[in-house]
Amino acid sequence: MGVGPGRDNSESPACSVLHTVEWKDTQMIIVMKPGASEDQVQHVVDLVRDFGLKEHVIHGTDRTVVACIGDKRHVDKSAIENASMVERVVPVLAPYKMASREVRGERTQIRVGPRQFPLGGRQVGIIAGPCSIESREQILLLADVAQKAGCIGLRGGAFKPRTSPYAFQGLREEGLKLLAEARARTGLAVFTEVMSIEQIPLVSELCDVLQIGARNMHNYALLEAVGKADKPVLLKRGLSATLEEFLLAAEYIINAGNEQVILCERGIRTFEDYVRNTLPLAVVPELNDKTHLPVVVDPSHGTGHAHLVPAMCRAAVAAGADGIILECHNDPEHASSDGAQSITPATLYELMPVLKRIAQAIDRDV
Ligand code: PEP
Ligand code: MN
Repeated sequence: MGVGPGRDNSESPACSVLHTVEWKDTQMIIVMKPGASEDQVQHVVDLVRDFGLKEHVIHGTDRTVVACIGDKRHVDKSAIENASMVERVVPVLAPYKMASREVRGERTQIRVGPRQFPLGGRQVGIIAGPCSIESREQILLLADVAQKAGCIGLRGGAFKPRTSPYAFQGLREEGLKLLAEARARTGLAVFTEVMSIEQIPLVSELCDVLQIGARNMHNYALLEAVGKADKPVLLKRGLSATLEEFLLAAEYIINAGNEQVILCERGIRTFEDYVRNTLPLAVVPELNDKTHLPVVVDPSHGTGHAHLVPAMCRAAVAAGADGIILECHNDPEHASSDGAQSITPATLYELMPVLKRIAQAIDRDV
């Protein structure tokens, strides 16, 4: 990833001039008041050095800025703020450096599947399919449905993280092969979950996008391992993860070498019980503000109820999501998993043109 000065940020007057320092190492900027003397700037520089940081002084047209590089843990910020002629101390980078918009102003597009659909571009990508791959007939039928509806991707779990060890655990390798067959037949990008490090080579060989499930968002060894894979990763938000923890999980993957991270909001656990999870859609504009990574919404796990899914899809597109991943089943009542939250093909066909109209209203497309 190119490390550049980032987007234009009027809050930070140094942005336009701070191109000689490595932004990923920059911890804070000290903005001096206009008219600060050389001695006053030097005093700040001495303070910064006392705290073990390296400084980079930038003389702008009307004010001087001191960019500080290094470990800021031992810095007494208030001592700097109180120094004479210091206007403010601006922390430059969020803890998630590579995922932050501060290091990359423009949005990242991640190309998925045989047709290289750009997630994060103008077009909103819809990914549909069953919770679990159950049989050849089922996955091929639903692949045809997704293709006919205008989706860009097919989802389907081959390795299933189930709350109960007695519940259906997925068709595993056989399921992956069926997914690959569905891809060859339709040209759709196939998304499937990888639950452990050992599964990565096979899933990478047969599928297009490696999904990290909500329960594994905190599995740092797995995050690092998909960080070494050469496939895009769909990272689901943990059931009780804060936004910052979510972005730091993305940071693990990027830091290990894989910049192709797609964030997926799938609902969080709250006291509310009319839904399976609470889907916080405000996260979409918030993430769009904080990170350059594409943001996808999962309204199926986000609500747990099929009748709520179409409205949440509409809202997600309106809120600025780059994609939607939803569960669709031809016979939800007999689905091996998550039937209650799976919409039918008929509902998907009705929904797609509506989503297209909503996208067009915000200058996007489906
Ligand atoms: C899934 O997508 O089928 C799934 C298990 O999702 P999550 O990890 O969000 O619960
Ligand atoms: Mn599911």
